[in-house]
Amino acid sequence: MSQKDKEKRSPAELAFLIIFYPAILGFYCIYKYPYWFVAEGTSLQCFHVFGKSPGFWYATVYTLLVAGTCLWVLIGNRNSYQRSRKKGPLSSYQKAKFLSILLSQTIAFYLIPFVLPALRQQGGFFNDPGRLSTKAAHVYVYPAFQSIGLAVYMFLVIPVAVWFFGKRYCSWFCSCGNLAEAVGVLPWGSRWVRLHTPRGETAKRLEVIQSWVLAFAVFFGIMLFLDGLKILTAPSFIFALQSSQDFLIDFLFGSIVGLGAYPILGTRIWCRYGCPMAKGMQWFGFLTRGRFAVVPNEKCRGLNLCTEACPMGIDVASYAHRDRKPIEVAFGMETVCIGCGGCIDACPAGALAFASIKDGRWAIVSKPLSHPTENQATPR
Ligand code: SF4
Ligand code: SF4
Ligand code: SF4
Repeated sequence: MSQKDKEKRSPAELAFLIIFYPAILGFYCIYKYPYWFVAEGTSLQCFHVFGKSPGFWYATVYTLLVAGTCLWVLIGNRNSYQRSRKKGPLSSYQKAKFLSILLSQTIAFYLIPFVLPALRQQGGFFNDPGRLSTKAAHVYVYPAFQSIGLAVYMFLVIPVAVWFFGKRYCSWFCSCGNLAEAVGVLPWGSRWVRLHTPRGETAKRLEVIQSWVLAFAVFFGIMLFLDGLKILTAPSFIFALQSSQDFLIDFLFGSIVGLGAYPILGTRIWCRYGCPMAKGMQWFGFLTRGRFAVVPNEKCRGLNLCTEACPMGIDVASYAHRDRKPIEVAFGMETVCIGCGGCIDACPAGALAFASIKDGRWAIVSKPLSHPTENQATPR
């Protein structure tokens, strides 16, 4: 089969895409801007199905997809990152990651926000109040300037976690990341990651967009903070900032592109180019030289399968070999790496592993697929 044939989408996949795009566009328009469809002031319960809000049904489908995939991966115990037909067993790292995704998605992002409060609401479980969606997700950073709890989370808890674990928050816990990780190991999803994730110098240079999103988020947060203290009051300016944030970043980028890009640009476009919290984590880890890195060893054979497996478009192989000759470096927070471990589990030579600083050296902390070794590579 030629490369072109391999890249062709099957009729089933094309049929899925024909349904997928109108569905996500329609859903997000109704979910975030219901008054585009009904007169301002109309009860939003007109969008409910069986008494439950669109947000509830979306979270239900989302969680079923994530949880179902996690169970499929865990019970099947197959290394879905491997390209060979005969797959090895799941590594202990991937088992722990998919268990964490399963639990965080079902408990923290479904039962606690969507099921438990509804059990106690007036009129019973199937009687959601008609509410506008909250667009102020914590990953947009600016809400941390309005709440002490979120400020502690954003400026203390997250940096400490990044120091020790890198951006594993994105691959082990975050709700957006949970879907990306789950879809990334499904048969279509792994093809989308492998064939469509933007790679190369231009794609890397465009990561600067995320710095601009972070700069906007911090500026907006400071404006809200000053407004809250009555040091600055400019309601129309703040309204303009809020409207831009809600429409451009939350609706267009975070939602429509964030999900819609999966089949055409891989699963992590929002995480790589949009999410301001991710850029903040990356800068913090880089500037403080956090203890997280991926290191190659001398077993690298230059197969490049690691690069193809990376959902963040990192040229992993360039850190592992030059002209098929292994090179010894470590890479971590100077890249957009989210610690998903896909490259490590995709490498048939067992040439990659996670490492942490121990006694001034990078020491392997996760098992490569074969023989764990002490590595003396230095960060570059
Ligand atoms: S990059 Fe942002 S949205 Fe994506 S997984 Fe990380 S924190 Fe979540
Ligand atoms: S690290 Fe593994 S997958 Fe990547 S180039 Fe080397 S041998 Fe190939
Ligand atoms: S470099 Fe490896 S661990 Fe990091 S994001 Fe890419 S595949 Fe995941």
